Amino acid sequence: MHRGSGRLAQALDVAPVNAELPRPISEIEATLIREALAVAPLPEAHAAMLENLSNLQVVYRCPCGCGSVSFAIPEGRETKLTRVADAQGKTSTGEMVGFMVRATPEQVAHIEVYWHHTEGAPLPEPGSLEPWRGRTV
Ligand SMILES: [Zn+2]
Repeated sequence: MHRGSGRLAQALDVAPVNAELPRPISEIEATLIREALAVAPLPEAHAAMLENLSNLQVVYRCPCGCGSVSFAIPEGRETKLTRVADAQGKTSTGEMVGFMVRATPEQVAHIEVYWHHTEGAPLPEPGSLEPWRGRTV
């Protein structure tokens, strides 16, 4: 879990914690971002941020083992992040996880997967996303 853009900004400045990075965005990550922006968009969401999705590079992966990742923001571009989608979905084992998308005005920059019991939430299944309903579970 990592909430707050201050910590995120710091994370983007440090070297990748994972040897496989950077890597291109995965198909499932791109699918989930499109789905979250379709079913649970917030006012700052806009269609243009979907156009460059397939070019995104993952540069940071949350060390807790969850599915949260951050994408590279090119030098000189706006780095201030806004929440653009707030969804929840079911993992392959049927557990409900939160799925949040943050973006700069130009591109998606971060996805966060979380649950409330412990660390390590995996990505939800594509097709399972719906608007976030709050911490009722
Ligand atoms: Zn994590």
